[in-house]
Amino acid sequence: MPELPEVETVRRGLEPVLTGARLTRVRQNRPDLRFPFPERFAARLEGAEVERLDRRAKYLLASLSTGETWVTHLGMTGRFTLDGDPLGEFETESPAAGKHEHLSPCAVRGGRAIRIGYADARRFGFMGLIRSDEVERHPWFAGLGPEPLGNGFHAGHLAAAFAGRRQSVKALLLDQRVVAGLGNIYVCEALWRAHISPRTAAGRLGRARLERLVPAVRQVLEAAIAAGGSTLRDFANAEGGQGYFQHDFCVYGREGQPCRTPGCPGTVKRIVQAGRSTFFCSRCQT
Ligand SMILES: [Zn+2]
Repeated sequence: MPELPEVETVRRGLEPVLTGARLTRVRQNRPDLRFPFPERFAARLEGAEVERLDRRAKYLLASLSTGETWVTHLGMTGRFTLDGDPLGEFETESPAAGKHEHLSPCAVRGGRAIRIGYADARRFGFMGLIRSDEVERHPWFAGLGPEPLGNGFHAGHLAAAFAGRRQSVKALLLDQRVVAGLGNIYVCEALWRAHISPRTAAGRLGRARLERLVPAVRQVLEAAIAAGGSTLRDFANAEGGQGYFQHDFCVYGREGQPCRTPGCPGTVKRIVQAGRSTFFCSRCQT
């Protein structure tokens, strides 16, 4: 499932090509993905210029000259192609492009024709068209916490969000109202990096540990985005297909293996919290 770094990698791949591009012809090959496409979707996209491409949590937001914002959630297997080349294809499943291409917008930018494709084998993704001045109030976005890579995410924010909470820090970091877009893998990695036990009640974390947690979250995300960037460069060399999930995580998926904290004699354990696997080291995460 694409997590925030994968979505950000896709955004960075699309942004230089889509920003300033005018959508000329949009072919929609089925009525729905996870949800129906918006009414008259292709007609509302055609003729619009993409003014900006942003990301909020795991959503891509293309602000259009028509005053609407084209929102995409990649679900589990959604992916974009540019002129047939995949962008941010992180899963190791076979691509099978074309067969599952559900939306095929053509665009023109600076006299250059661009062919965009959106394919989604399992169709858990979805798209919307929202008035740009209503995006923040839309149910998909209202109530989302700050971006973990943005200025609104800091120890003071976490102190306020965690105050008096008895739920585990793991559960609250996965709560999109506390911080937007963090998924299971990166929460495990960040807690390991910050040496905080995932089982600790969030309200018991003092300022020192919160001050360690914030940069740990940022660092694991930034490292993953950097790894995605290198994947994109590989695509430029027509290599393709390198799965992000071959990325070397420090605790995630490493049950029974030695902890990578320097000098720590611990072994990575797996427990289940709220139905999700948590990987951690009980020796150096306290
Ligand atoms: Zn350890």
